[in-house]
Amino acid sequence: MTSTATITNTRNRQSRPCSESILERKNAHEGNLHAQGAPVRIESLTVKADRVIARISIDDVHFRYTTPAIAERAQAEYPTLARHACVNARGKTFGAVMNETSTAHLLEHLVIEMQIRSCADEAAVFVGTTEWIDEQAGIACVQVSFEDDLNALRAFNKAAHFLNSAVIV
Ligand SMILES: [Zn+2]
Repeated sequence: MTSTATITNTRNRQSRPCSESILERKNAHEGNLHAQGAPVRIESLTVKADRVIARISIDDVHFRYTTPAIAERAQAEYPTLARHACVNARGKTFGAVMNETSTAHLLEHLVIEMQIRSCADEAAVFVGTTEWIDEQAGIACVQVSFEDDLNALRAFNKAAHFLNSAVIV
């Protein structure tokens, strides 16, 4: 199943009468984004009524945290990342921690940034959270709100691809 097929499935499920559509894929290895060897892998994406929940797997410990060089490469492409509001131990913006935070947290802010860019409503506000489920195993949970669930799913895939292809390696 490709990423495109995933999005199609979600759309089909939206027509169901229940208030939330759920798409969950475990251990997906299809295509480049979910290739078994990719440093940051999206193991599953679950669409809830108000947010998308992603289970992220980062096997190699060297890819689990950002560095100043990683932050610089991400900012080169998305200069407004550092100004994102972010509740963290060092300040009120993502810029306060982006040199030394979890790669999953960077993924969260990339997903938010990509949704901001693709959203027609300039007043739209996106919020997210990132937490380790099992830091020893490199498993994190990233949750991000959305205006359009299909845009959010695309943003997760695009952000993971960007991280793997241009930022962390
Ligand atoms: Zn944050």
